[in-house]
Amino acid sequence: MARILVVEDEIKIARFLQLELIHEGYEVVVAYNGHEGFKKGSEESFDLILLDLMLPGLSGIEVCRRIRSSSSVPIIMLTAKDDISDKVTGLDMGADDYITKPFAIEEVFARIRVALKRAKKKTDESNLYQYKGLTVNADNYEVSYDDEKIVLTKKEFSLLVYLLDNINVVVPRETILSKVWGYEYIGETNIVDVYVSYIRTKIDQKYNVEIIKTIRGVGYIIREDDND
Ligand code: CA
Repeated sequence: MARILVVEDEIKIARFLQLELIHEGYEVVVAYNGHEGFKKGSEESFDLILLDLMLPGLSGIEVCRRIRSSSSVPIIMLTAKDDISDKVTGLDMGADDYITKPFAIEEVFARIRVALKRAKKKTDESNLYQYKGLTVNADNYEVSYDDEKIVLTKKEFSLLVYLLDNINVVVPRETILSKVWGYEYIGETNIVDVYVSYIRTKIDQKYNVEIIKTIRGVGYIIREDDND
């Protein structure tokens, strides 16, 4: 179940949210001020943050700005009053949504469901690559061409995903070596050529397609709208 951080200084509201969310099946961690909220929000992993804006110490806006600088976790602001400027600032600082106090708990549940769904969709999309007939799912390491399963080794897979991540960019052999193999030295780049040839045997030759193009003397590219 999703893990939620509640940052709220009013004990009664914090406790109420905690109990209701736990009852709804969420795992809940509570922080009672901005510093604690920022600390937990940046050090631990959450699926969503419910963030009160009027906090002692570090303001909710500041907590939001700091967390957002390193994380894309969904943030729903709780605003004490119908303060438009606070909401606008919060959304500018990267919050995803806001709820005005006093709120009905059903509304909170609904907003949380929407935010979690949206975040999940984003993750799903970013881990799924489709190119020509090729489908690569980086979550479960599944690769297929025209719905036919292809078995790649871990390195072949990483190399393919790295090139798909950098679609339309010519990636030098040295960069591939460093990013996919973790080697920082040059001179062993023919290992990249060998692995590209493995992928070509398994995919290109079998399905009569050209996925990875060679840029002679430089490196490799997977190019979009490449119809030849
Ligand atoms: Ca407050």
